Amino acid sequence: MWIAGEAQFAASMLDVHDPYSGRLVGRVPAAGKEQVTEAIERMTRQSPPKLSRQQRSVILRRIADIIRRETDSLARLNTAESGLCLKDTRYEAARSIDVLNLAADATSFDDSAVFPGSVGANGKPRRIFTHRESIGLVAAITPFNHPLNQVVHKIAPAIATNTPIIVKPSEKTPLTALRLAEICYEAGLPPELLSVVTGNPIEIAEVFTSHPAVALLSFTGSPTVGKRLIQQAGYRRVVVELGGNDPLIVMEDADVEAAAELAANGAYGNSGQRCTAVKRILVQRGIADAFVAALERRTQRFVAADPADERTDIGTVIDEPAAVQIARRIADAIGAGARLVAGHRRDGALLQPTILDHVPTGCELVAEETFGPVAPVIRFDGIDEAVSISNGTRYGLSSAICTNRIDWISRFVSDLRVGSVNVWEVPGYRSEASPFGGVKDSGLGCKEGVVEAMRLYTTVKTLSLPWPHP
Ligand code: NAP
Repeated sequence: MWIAGEAQFAASMLDVHDPYSGRLVGRVPAAGKEQVTEAIERMTRQSPPKLSRQQRSVILRRIADIIRRETDSLARLNTAESGLCLKDTRYEAARSIDVLNLAADATSFDDSAVFPGSVGANGKPRRIFTHRESIGLVAAITPFNHPLNQVVHKIAPAIATNTPIIVKPSEKTPLTALRLAEICYEAGLPPELLSVVTGNPIEIAEVFTSHPAVALLSFTGSPTVGKRLIQQAGYRRVVVELGGNDPLIVMEDADVEAAAELAANGAYGNSGQRCTAVKRILVQRGIADAFVAALERRTQRFVAADPADERTDIGTVIDEPAAVQIARRIADAIGAGARLVAGHRRDGALLQPTILDHVPTGCELVAEETFGPVAPVIRFDGIDEAVSISNGTRYGLSSAICTNRIDWISRFVSDLRVGSVNVWEVPGYRSEASPFGGVKDSGLGCKEGVVEAMRLYTTVKTLSLPWPHP
């Protein structure tokens, strides 16, 4: 087993703390530029192992099986470093098992195509076939909010396509990623196909964006960092999956109880730290009072407490500075005229779920991405205003619509500038196989999800053969 940046290579170590208690939960190597370059060169010195589709499928399923067997310990490790509650981290482990099994299934298929050659005035008696080849080394950078599944979403398509990958997880949550790498090796993945490096993000990213062996940079995180990396990356493929400010839009024909259920789950799940969390709740004025009352009743059921307690529904956000920033945005929104309905209490990195009503659209709380358990309600009069408010941020990741009117649904599908529209579902709904990704500052329209990522990690080669039968 070999993890680049292991203690013997690193000049110093990084401490990882539990966001809830502050206790030290682990130490990881702080790899510098030299170690990262060395890791890339060790991976690329020789051609990567060529595993058959069957071998890749077996390895992916073995990784899934080990995660299933070790769900409890992986969830506890994830909770200890991220502050996400055990309910969330167990759910994340289950999602990652799905990703791996889907990637294993996907090794059985490809999108090869066949074209006749004897067409057009200059046709020849030939046939043209396409197939996909690995692009070469992928360098991936992942955020803190899903310490396991974000990394699995980068690694599984790489294994499925025989693509070597080097991953830099968030330095706030590296322990789960390192354990995942060990699991991959235990499952039989040759070490030349996977490295995980931890350390200073700026230094690591400088190597990822300048080393000639890196064929693709795959980044998930904030638009500020993503845009900087696009500028740095030069002539290589780059995929960015960036932030979101997703609306849940509740029209006047909606069942307010069902809509409030979606709003609460979408706003508070994973401590509100999902790129596709419900970050703005747009409610048509006629039903807004009833909706806010229903949301308040549901919010009272959510327990925000020690993330390691099995009964907890909402753990901490990633650290105390993040919680302080969110509390400040809530206070500013109240100062700008919003009405506090519930919550707005902070204890270290732990925030109680907070509802605000009558939130003005210009507040930082809703104009920017607020990554925490907050449910800001914005009231509107008609569908034109709903579309305009919804599109009125720099983000365009996903959206959720609560209405049964097909004319309104088709208007939203056509006019919302987002990557996904979910009718009667939270914005975060997706299958691990379906295409996923945003527009505007949420991404450049490239999609991820296992199948799309397998396409991104490969290039199409065409070959033509003599084919005498036209
Ligand atoms: P971030 O600050 O952009 O960090 C993302 C990754 O980039 C981390 O590994 C981070 O390392 C690294 N990084 C930070 N500064 C860097 C720099 N100057 N150069 C190179 N790398 C750098 O984002 P985050 O706060 O971790 O994550 C939250 C964001 O991710 C939110 O905006 C969320 O919506 C977005 N997100 C998007 C998706 C999607 O699929 N669209 C999914 C999940 C999350 P360190 O953590 O070690 O600093």
